[in-house]
Amino acid sequence: MMPKVIKSKLLIIHPDRAPIPQGMVVVNEGRVSDVGADIAVPAGAEVVDCSAYTVMPALIDSHVHITINNRFEMPLSAHFDLDATTAVLRGAMNLRSDLASGVTTMRTLGDRPGIEKAFQGAIDRGEAVGPRLQVCVRALRPSHGTAPFLCFPADGAEELALKIRENFARGADWTKLFVTNVRQGDAYEDYIRGDLTDVPAYSKREIEAAIAASHDLGIPVAAHAIGGPALRWALEAGIDSIEHANLLTDEDVALFAKSGAYLSDPNLQLFFDDEVGFASFPTWTWDWWRERVERARELTATHLPEAVRAGVKVCLGTDSTHATLWREASALVGLGVSETDALKAVTTNTAEMLCMADRVGHLHAGMFADAIALSGNPLEDIACLRHVKMVMKAGEVVTDVLRGASGVFSD
Ligand SMILES: [Zn+2]
Repeated sequence: MMPKVIKSKLLIIHPDRAPIPQGMVVVNEGRVSDVGADIAVPAGAEVVDCSAYTVMPALIDSHVHITINNRFEMPLSAHFDLDATTAVLRGAMNLRSDLASGVTTMRTLGDRPGIEKAFQGAIDRGEAVGPRLQVCVRALRPSHGTAPFLCFPADGAEELALKIRENFARGADWTKLFVTNVRQGDAYEDYIRGDLTDVPAYSKREIEAAIAASHDLGIPVAAHAIGGPALRWALEAGIDSIEHANLLTDEDVALFAKSGAYLSDPNLQLFFDDEVGFASFPTWTWDWWRERVERARELTATHLPEAVRAGVKVCLGTDSTHATLWREASALVGLGVSETDALKAVTTNTAEMLCMADRVGHLHAGMFADAIALSGNPLEDIACLRHVKMVMKAGEVVTDVLRGASGVFSD
């Protein structure tokens, strides 16, 4: 592979480091070999000309479901009834759009059987287009738990340990548990009746046992936990990432900071972006639901910035929306969090959570050559993450594959 050099107007190598005007990134064999303004460019290096743009590390999405996309359907029955081929085709399209949005690494936390491993392998072999994946294989819930279309029942410490071991044998990178949300029935209204509550789904004993069983195998654990006792049990038992956490209290923030767990996918666009969030859904006319969302919105607006100040590392995810990390990051800044912290929430924090900080999330010699180009500077205007001009994954410019044109896009 010929060496490449990415030229920039402004180079961000790490959210915490001063950006480098006219910085360059030298790429060799899919890895960064040098960064800076006054560096030697290897003779014959192919130029990726982003000299009109800001170049920064590619994005990392902390929480995604491959085949689900809010743009397709709302009712749960639509997920149940969908044929497997259509689900796979939608998954392929979703992952393609994720990569086009500048995401080159992501974690998937629940889907139909077999989907996550199949896509992970297909992407690694070049048979499918998308970000590199960390997967949970099968997300686990109690029998009376929620979202049966994307997770599997496991009850009691023993069955949890068994299912976690089976997932490990199938190549799971993560264990995913639904520790809040209980099932009220099969209709869509029943599903959302169980959502955004702090009612535990798993017992304290089950949560402790699952975390211990997973850690014994060397696999980190992510828990869907909106709030309440189950969230605290998970933090106390050494959970690695809490998903959503929209009903945090002051005490929870302190416990969170002490635990060192990551706060992943607070689903900010659902709460704060009226264009695509809950307020745009037909369910907004249900008074009880709107009141519940408004309570979660208030608690999130107060406690999420507080958590960032307390040192909790936030990782943003797009969950079932895909390719919209810019909306999440914009909403985080809208809550008073700095652009620098918002940028960490889509790069370095998530890289650390995935134990990949030595490969992705920032641009230094030895890292994967994963970079994006933007027309603005996200440290000044976070919304400029919306318009990605170039995507490089492991040294390959993939924008042309994604959009059917030359590697770098002009306005
Ligand atoms: Zn999810």
